[in-house]
Amino acid sequence: MISELIKESQLFKSIVKDRLSKRLSHAYLILGEDTETRKAFVNEISLYLMCENGGCMECKTCAKVMARTHFDLIFLNEDGKLKTDDLNQLIDYVYIKPAEAEYKLVFIDNADGLSDNIQNKLLKLYEEPPESVIIFMLARGEAGILRTIKSRAKTQYLPIFSSKEIYQELLEEGVEENTAKAAAIISGGQFDRAYLFSNQEGYLEMYNSCVDLLMNLKKSQDVTEYIGSKLFEKDKIEVTLDYFQIIFKDVLVYISKSNCEYATIGRECDIKEIADGFNEGGVALAILSIVKAKMMLKANVSNQSVAESLMLQILEDKYKSKI
Ligand SMILES: [Zn+2]
Repeated sequence: MISELIKESQLFKSIVKDRLSKRLSHAYLILGEDTETRKAFVNEISLYLMCENGGCMECKTCAKVMARTHFDLIFLNEDGKLKTDDLNQLIDYVYIKPAEAEYKLVFIDNADGLSDNIQNKLLKLYEEPPESVIIFMLARGEAGILRTIKSRAKTQYLPIFSSKEIYQELLEEGVEENTAKAAAIISGGQFDRAYLFSNQEGYLEMYNSCVDLLMNLKKSQDVTEYIGSKLFEKDKIEVTLDYFQIIFKDVLVYISKSNCEYATIGRECDIKEIADGFNEGGVALAILSIVKAKMMLKANVSNQSVAESLMLQILEDKYKSKI
């Protein structure tokens, strides 16, 4: 269970330790990209801090926490649309003592997207923290968080799981074995990516299309043919680049005869075919080219230009392998 994994994490244990030593901070800044792990953490820490028995899952309090109807819990900015008005309400609310539990917990999600204006308003809470209130600010990374807020919060990181842990979890949830294996390796330790890959048939199909494309990309004329591929559409290209990277890592595993596991399941022959003509250096260059393409995308270069230059670059990286 993901909840069990959370409870075994350093993050969770350190907050338990803070509580036991009566050193809970008034504010925590929890950093990590994985949205599923973030959700699970919010659940588990609420249960732990609200329930008299540390999250027994049997009492009324636990039921209220799970249903998100507990009066002493507040969730903000889950949709990323927090307004100044909401904050005024929050400030009124936090200065009232907890109604039922020992603490009042405030969760502010997607904090790295909050405007400076809103963060400055929140700062009041950080400067004069009301008693019994704990603010958990959750963000992907610390970029975008005001220094004044950071300095008043205790920074902690969400756990990153091993592919084995993710694989086990997916199996327990009934995901088919091969899909679970591929999803776990592709996840990079993040549950949100693993779920995306394993729950939506489209993603597995998309992965296979990426293998097909790389297998058939042999000469520069092919680039013209593939540039209009669905894989490079605006809402797909990011995932496509992730998949390309994973496929080339498999190619590297093949060429270097390393005993790492393949992420691509059941298509080992096709990985061999993609590898044909590459040497280790060439594959490393191709992986770098993909990283560069991701940066171009972030810098708002059009998806078609990114796709075109990447495919040409991959062909060139292969060509360099031969000289
Ligand atoms: Zn309980």
